[in-house]
Amino acid sequence: SQKHKVVVIGSGNWGSTIGKILAENTREHSELFEENVSMWVFDEDVDVPDDKTLRDQLGDKPVKLTHAINTVHQNLKYLPGIKLPVNLIANPDLQDTVKGASILVFNLPHQFISKTLDQIDHQHLPYARGISCIKGVDVADGTVTLYSEMIMEKLGIYCGSLSGANIAPEVAAENLCETTIGYDGPPMDYKQPDGSPQDNLIKVDEQRQSKSKPSHVKLHPVPQTYPHVDSGLLKKLFSRPYFNVNVVRDVSGVALGGALKNIIALAAGFVTGKGWGENTKAAVIRIGVLEMVRFGRIWFPQSVDERTFTEESAGIADLVTSASAGRNFRSACHAVEKGVSVDEIEKTELGGQKLQGTSTTRAVYEFLEKQGQREQFPLFVFVYDILEGRTTIDSLPEVLDKESKIK
Ligand code: NAD
Ligand code: 13P
Repeated sequence: SQKHKVVVIGSGNWGSTIGKILAENTREHSELFEENVSMWVFDEDVDVPDDKTLRDQLGDKPVKLTHAINTVHQNLKYLPGIKLPVNLIANPDLQDTVKGASILVFNLPHQFISKTLDQIDHQHLPYARGISCIKGVDVADGTVTLYSEMIMEKLGIYCGSLSGANIAPEVAAENLCETTIGYDGPPMDYKQPDGSPQDNLIKVDEQRQSKSKPSHVKLHPVPQTYPHVDSGLLKKLFSRPYFNVNVVRDVSGVALGGALKNIIALAAGFVTGKGWGENTKAAVIRIGVLEMVRFGRIWFPQSVDERTFTEESAGIADLVTSASAGRNFRSACHAVEKGVSVDEIEKTELGGQKLQGTSTTRAVYEFLEKQGQREQFPLFVFVYDILEGRTTIDSLPEVLDKESKIK
């Protein structure tokens, strides 16, 4: 039988970490996967640190990031100090990376995904399967789209989602953590609703899509010459002794949890920046969970399983870790301490890494406004108002008050 060719699109802090995990596993399960994993890198020049071993191999002038990754097996800019497997191959050419791939793992800041998908220009296999590790939502014309959905729509391939309490440098250092994969891809013996076998296009269950924008994606079945892509295969591809994977069917809940927790992490950062303590942060996390659940109930009533938010790593656990040590939390905290905007902190302190919380807050606010539902989400609206300089964290008591009045 054929082996799956696995690629990762994106090579930032989390992209490189997931690339490391994938390459470790393709080597370990070489009966299922081709050993080499290509990683698409948005290429740029990087400085070589003042380190003898690195400079012996790379010289002391700036070098291309792809060249550095393939030579010293480190992402010097986005994941410095972590040894990457030699079978993780950096490739600056997007179309060349995806060519012939049967499993595509998407791991880019959400700001760049739409344009990147367009640039793939249908060079991927039509029956490939995708997993989105992206934490954010896309809002346009009053509709909300999860990135797992956008990938399905733009590439015409099935896409699940991966999210969890996964601060990348901790995972890269192989400190134990959990994650959640949402995957409800068609089973091996799938039959069309009219009883015909899976040699035709498969229609994705419409119920899975957001209520604000039903979509009609048709999928090509994976040829039976490949190992079937199911929860068992995904566990072999993503689990490591330090990375514990739980697979659930709730793709939307996993993707939505990863997106919305970033807004709550910003609120937690504002709280800590002001000097309030853990009790206040816990209150913000509590009402944050309420708003996450409410968001799912209103717009994804048939797809989101609320237990994903309250029981899975992609829900409550990610919220806890992100509100203690995530970049959104830290940047919001520094912004209050220094009296500058979060956008300013992102530019000056993150070394090229991208926040997902600020743009997600703005997108969610625009969506709530268009849908006439701002009153149902006092915390999300409050974080937006702080980012826009219309209010400060001092008004948090009013938010707690508003939340307590919502049935
Ligand atoms: P990052 O914040 O390190 O972002 C930088 C990446 O963006 C680099 O790879 C850079 O090359 C790329 N980039 C810059 N400009 C670009 C452009 N114009 N087009 C395409 N790419 C461009 O990225 P990350 O941490 O890998 O985040 C990817 C996703 O993973 C995000 O949605 C994030 O929420 C999620 N995530 C991150 C972490 C974490 O701890 N870093 C953990 C879990 C999930
Ligand atoms: P930040 O993007 O805020 O660092 O969050 C990382 C994350 O998603 C941890 O699970």
